[in-house]
Amino acid sequence: MLDIANLQVWYGQVQALFGVSLTVGAGELVVLQGLNGAGKSTLLQAIMGLSPRAKGTVCYQNENIESWPTHRRALAGLGYVAEDRRLFSGLTVRENLHIAARGDAAAGEAQALALFPALRAMLHRPAAQMSGGEQQMLAIARTLMTRPRLLLLDEPCEGIAPVLVEAIRDALLALKAQGVPMLVAEQNRILADRADRVVTLVAGQVAGADTATDAATVAAGKSAAP
Ligand code: ATP
Repeated sequence: MLDIANLQVWYGQVQALFGVSLTVGAGELVVLQGLNGAGKSTLLQAIMGLSPRAKGTVCYQNENIESWPTHRRALAGLGYVAEDRRLFSGLTVRENLHIAARGDAAAGEAQALALFPALRAMLHRPAAQMSGGEQQMLAIARTLMTRPRLLLLDEPCEGIAPVLVEAIRDALLALKAQGVPMLVAEQNRILADRADRVVTLVAGQVAGADTATDAATVAAGKSAAP
């Protein structure tokens, strides 16, 4: 479904990913672990075509999408929820959902509310007046309104009250049960125990991967040439 090979990303002269390879198969939940700065967000952004400079192969449904702009990746079914959620804070929950709707908005809303029933009582509340956890639920629900075929979630449970973490975890596991493949960055182990695979990033590389040359570059604190 998603095949990433030897992905490298730079911010200016500074390299952040050093030859990352991973796959997400149909229906799989893959958890991406790693400390702050390991490169989790950078990897998800690169998959969405949001990186300033990237090299390597990103194949989605057997097509190389490297040259595709972000909106084309989204239209092809990649659904991305950024760490900062990017909600329309002045719009209500319902407006945030409907602005993203593809196809039957009422059906999409019903599906989203079935996964996140807590949002039902807040449909007319501006996003700015929600807690961080509620906003996170809305951000995921809004992305579901685009009918994604693969979800990329950046730390959906970070800094959220435990009761809402459980609600989000249960919703993601329900999506997995429905066959929606997911790549989820997380630092804790909320989903890792239920994942098909856990991939750990360390300093921009997959831990245990055979990237000796790049590892030496990292150890030396240098950037490899693009
Ligand atoms: P966190 O959980 O803190 O977001 P992360 O694992 O998602 O960590 P990234 O945010 O992808 O890590 O950061 C990977 C590396 O890239 C870090 O060294 C970071 O400083 C650097 N980096 C990230 N964004 C930028 C940017 N916009 N400009 C320059 N360097 C950046």
